[in-house]
Amino acid sequence: MKVLVAVKRVIDYNVRVRVRADGSGVETANVKFSMNPFDEIAVEEAVRLKEAGATAEIIVVSIGPAQAQETLRSALAMGADRAILIQTEDAVEPLAVAKLLTAVARREGVELAIIGKQAIDDDANQTGQMLAALLDWPQGTFASKLVLEDGRAVVTREIDGGLETVSLALPAVITTDLRLNAPRYASLPNIMKAKKKPLDILTPADFGVDVSPRLVTLKVEAPRQRKAGVKVADAAQLFDKLKHEAKVI
Ligand code: AMP
Repeated sequence: MKVLVAVKRVIDYNVRVRVRADGSGVETANVKFSMNPFDEIAVEEAVRLKEAGATAEIIVVSIGPAQAQETLRSALAMGADRAILIQTEDAVEPLAVAKLLTAVARREGVELAIIGKQAIDDDANQTGQMLAALLDWPQGTFASKLVLEDGRAVVTREIDGGLETVSLALPAVITTDLRLNAPRYASLPNIMKAKKKPLDILTPADFGVDVSPRLVTLKVEAPRQRKAGVKVADAAQLFDKLKHEAKVI
């Protein structure tokens, strides 16, 4: 069984994101980029399934600039078998990403797509759901556990107030939540091996997908600065401050 894993190149989660002075977006010059953390979890899960003998080949796909090759190489170093970069300099919205992933899934004949629940740059949380709709496959979103058995995927989902377990007929789309696994660090020998693994570079036009944006960003603003908090000595002082300063009681 072939597995498709989508990996997005995003500003590293440790970077303090700065908004451009003209409010047109965030500063990306001289900023560290890495694999979207939820996609690392997706790669790890696919590698674990392969190690358990449940799947045969892991294809990682990224849509983005030439530098996204580094992101794909990181996924190959973690254990993916081959990579596809769909190269574009334009910002690609979730619907266009889902259309491209659909085209790859069909072309490659994959039976399982594992992708992040959300990209930490746009926080859209849309691509997996759109992918499932376009492929007409069942979806198990926000997965904290995944078991493949008897041609089905049993997915434990993190939902408000608890866990839900669903059983999906394959082929299916899974989106990863934080507790699914702890991604491995690639070893040096595996980083070296990854340099020789196949990485194809294509374009959206090769799949006949129009990636022109449907949304216009009007303005990007940094969150308002909050005043620093204070420590109170005891409950009486807290009560006094809530009553006379905050005037909430
Ligand atoms: P989003 O719907 O934008 O929050 O993204 C959800 C997931 O879709 C991400 O965690 C990735 O697995 C995948 N994805 C989104 N954009 C891209 C991209 N440009 N390249 C590869 N995968 C992507």
